[in-house]
Amino acid sequence: MKAVLISIQPKWCELIASGKKTVEVRKSNPTLETPFKCYIYETKGKSETPTFVDEEGHIIYDCGGVVIGEFVCDWIDYVRNYGDVVDAYDVNASCLSAAEIINYAKDKNGKFVYTYGWHISELEIYDKPKELSEFKKGCNDMDDPMYGSYCEYCENKCYLKRPPQSWCYVEEI
Ligand SMILES: [Zn+2]
Repeated sequence: MKAVLISIQPKWCELIASGKKTVEVRKSNPTLETPFKCYIYETKGKSETPTFVDEEGHIIYDCGGVVIGEFVCDWIDYVRNYGDVVDAYDVNASCLSAAEIINYAKDKNGKFVYTYGWHISELEIYDKPKELSEFKKGCNDMDDPMYGSYCEYCENKCYLKRPPQSWCYVEEI
């Protein structure tokens, strides 16, 4: 099954983990039909908030760079952005201000571009984060018997080495 791995900054991860942020705004969306599984890669940062407690009870101050959890994206919709007015639902659910959304919904030349709100449901934050290297890219040739369980194009047998700029397809684990 194809799934998605999405890179999210620590401050937004905290808001997602606390349940306050239920919509993630992006300029693109996968071609997968909803619902689909989405893994949360927390980008490297300097979090000062304890992220989790390990088996021995040590508090871990996570600096990101790991997959902290997963959710089911049950729907994706356009962010309702009418010129300089943004729908209140999208502002509240994304924890972004209307100005931040308007500013984000622009290309290099300042022209309006559509943005998509990915709705977060069935959130699960792992007790122990997963490493990026545990995830395999969702390559199209992966199931080709000629190549076994990896394709001929990727180094590292399709396992992720670098996080995606925004998001990428991965195999569901
Ligand atoms: Zn591959």
